[in-house]
Amino acid sequence: MSDTLNRTSQPNIILINCDDLGYGDLACYGSRRNDTPHLDQLAATGMRFTDFYMASPVCSASRAAMLTGCYSQRIGFADYQVLFPGQAQGLNPKESTIARQLKLVGYDTKIVGKWHCGDQPEFLPTNHGFDEYFGIPFSNDMGRQVNRLESPPLPLMRNDEVIQQQPDQRGITERYVDESLQFLRRERKAPFFLYLAHMYVHVPLFVPKQFMETSRNGAYGGAVACIDWAMGMIEAELNRLGIKDDTLIIFTSDNGSRARDEGGSNAPFRGTKAQTWEGGQRVPCIMRWPGKIAAGMTCEGIASSIDLFATLAEIAGAPLPPDTTLDSISLVETLLKGKPTKRDVFAYYRGPNLEAVRKGDWKRHYFRDAQPLFELYNLRDDVGERNNVYENHPEIVAELDIEAEEIRQAFGDRRLDCTGAEVREIGVSAHPKPLTEYDETHPYMIAYYDLADMPTMAG
Ligand code: MG
Repeated sequence: MSDTLNRTSQPNIILINCDDLGYGDLACYGSRRNDTPHLDQLAATGMRFTDFYMASPVCSASRAAMLTGCYSQRIGFADYQVLFPGQAQGLNPKESTIARQLKLVGYDTKIVGKWHCGDQPEFLPTNHGFDEYFGIPFSNDMGRQVNRLESPPLPLMRNDEVIQQQPDQRGITERYVDESLQFLRRERKAPFFLYLAHMYVHVPLFVPKQFMETSRNGAYGGAVACIDWAMGMIEAELNRLGIKDDTLIIFTSDNGSRARDEGGSNAPFRGTKAQTWEGGQRVPCIMRWPGKIAAGMTCEGIASSIDLFATLAEIAGAPLPPDTTLDSISLVETLLKGKPTKRDVFAYYRGPNLEAVRKGDWKRHYFRDAQPLFELYNLRDDVGERNNVYENHPEIVAELDIEAEEIRQAFGDRRLDCTGAEVREIGVSAHPKPLTEYDETHPYMIAYYDLADMPTMAG
């Protein structure tokens, strides 16, 4: 344990993860279309990260990586970036998670919302260190829709049971907040870990009327407002319970915005969700811990969601899993002393292919849309990745190529027929079966979803 902490007790930890929320979607990250007063306040009283990366530009791999402190390639997700209902694969129960490590040192743990690391019984949150689960276990477009009538209905789960099929999604965030607040009230005296994984702003967007009425950015702005409202509700409850100062809050998003015409933004970056441009993986991240993290700080060093594992273990005094290689680098010295982050290199994988590597300010792209590339960008001067300076810096290219080769040896690179030496196996269920089945006589609520009808930018 680091002496930096000098703590008398373990803090409560609340990790809030949004779905597909882009870098440019919060006012405190430059949005002029969405109002996010509670999140802006969180940033003003904590630390805002400018160079925080998710380990994958899509949902399942991103979430599995964050929870295990490993690149998604290491834990076998290279070919399973997005898991579908009833799929045989899931997060291997042999992997440890943040929740499991925190439980070892007395934390009570709960996840509310989107899991997306496998829906077979052995892969559910309650087999991955969470005492309790309430939520929709995968993406909100994976149930019944007018344009996908054959799909099984969307399950809403409590622990390992489906308690409702195809719930009204307009009310889901309110239910998630209610579950979260109940947990805070019950756990006020024990250290707790709450992982709130929002449904928003993954499409289709179903938004309660009160958030639509004040939105300047259509349904998307309403969904962002609802995320912000949830933050405000949690803050108010922490204040009421008198535990705000004992609680570390981390707010982030699983990947960049689709940035099509729904109102989402990855500004000032290039690219979208599912791409290895900065817009796909560089996401908002705010951490607040009163009295420990100085207010109003900005961290411009490279950091990643995979660093949360070591960070939270150190803060809670939890052991790291024995005989297990992780990719996690603790951020404790950055959070508590404002020191630079220790991560200098970040690998961008899309599926089984290494597409880019960042070292310091430099990013080398190797592969995109089945094409080998010779591209080098300086992210400090050219955050939009527009000015390819590959020809001008052969020494930087050579340095990055050495890093890339090391990464390939560990995690593989399919296009070069390179198999990673450090890859562990994803979990595989012997007899996979969807959580719900379509019954044509059942009066399910059908989610109406037609992109043509989606509100774009409101006036
Ligand atoms: Mg996502």
